[in-house]
Amino acid sequence: MRETPPAIADHLDRVRRANRRRPVAVVEAFDLTPNMRRLVLDELEPDTDAPPRPAGWIKLHLADPGDGRRSHGRAYTVRERVGGRIVIDMVRHGGLCAGWAQRARTGDRAEISGVRDGFRLDWPPAGEVLLGADETGLPAIAGILAALPPATRGTAWLEVPEEADVQPLDAPPGVTIHFLPRGAAPPGRRLTRALATAPLSPDATVWVAAERTAALDLRAHFEARLPLTQVRTAGYWRTASGSVSDDARPS
Ligand SMILES: Cc1cc2nc3c(=O)[nH]c(=O)nc-3n(C[C@H](O)[C@H](O)[C@H](O)COP(=O)(O)OP(=O)(O)OC[C@H]3O[C@@H](n4cnc5c(N)ncnc54)[C@H](O)[C@@H]3O)c2cc1C
Repeated sequence: MRETPPAIADHLDRVRRANRRRPVAVVEAFDLTPNMRRLVLDELEPDTDAPPRPAGWIKLHLADPGDGRRSHGRAYTVRERVGGRIVIDMVRHGGLCAGWAQRARTGDRAEISGVRDGFRLDWPPAGEVLLGADETGLPAIAGILAALPPATRGTAWLEVPEEADVQPLDAPPGVTIHFLPRGAAPPGRRLTRALATAPLSPDATVWVAAERTAALDLRAHFEARLPLTQVRTAGYWRTASGSVSDDARPS
């Protein structure tokens, strides 16, 4: 039998480690802002693998409420990871994981896998940064801003459900942060408009995480204007209808 080449064997080993499920226990669960719940999880089988770039994420695996033998995995950004503990900030809505977070009490158990790489562009960014996210991408942007070299210049746009969801974020002094409370607007509309009309330097690195349709629209917008190696947009969730209204789209 032919041997697997070392590069492929390494890759397969990384995938296997990233998929390995490990138990966690809830240490703390509390509301950070009206629409965001923070969970501190004890890694009961600590794993020292850590992606080299910010915005790393885990999968949280929970049993199916109807059929305890099946489980579902959802992605959550690691907001902080210190001393065998992982902090995740979970948007409060009606989903399986969101509901679990709402009811979570100290000692509750779940499983996670990862941490997986999140930023997936050259790090640190060579030129200006243009960052954008809704509340699901806020933990990732917080991590990116905190990790940027102090001389970095640029802008971050963050759409949040309401004014009270604004959080203080550490960032280099040359990076301006704008919060966009959504109010009654559809998810993604304010973020899409702000990013599509923001000044764009040719050396900019663009990183976006948002509702799927908004992310796809912004991908088309930025990939038409910058080299693909400078753009990363990710759909972090989808509305039940799967779309935002057409007038949210960049022209
Ligand atoms: C790489 C990555 C990192 C992510 N990091 C985070 C994070 O740090 N914090 C975080 O909160 N989310 C994060 N997300 C998004 C999260 O994985 C999804 O929102 C996920 O669907 C939530 O799972 P659930 O079981 O609660 O809801 P699901 O069972 O998946 O969905 C149930 C219903 O809720 C709706 N729904 C799902 N998400 C939302 C939402 N955010 N707002 C309103 N309605 C929603 C769906 O349309 C569906 O109708 C991340 C996603 C990715 C891909």
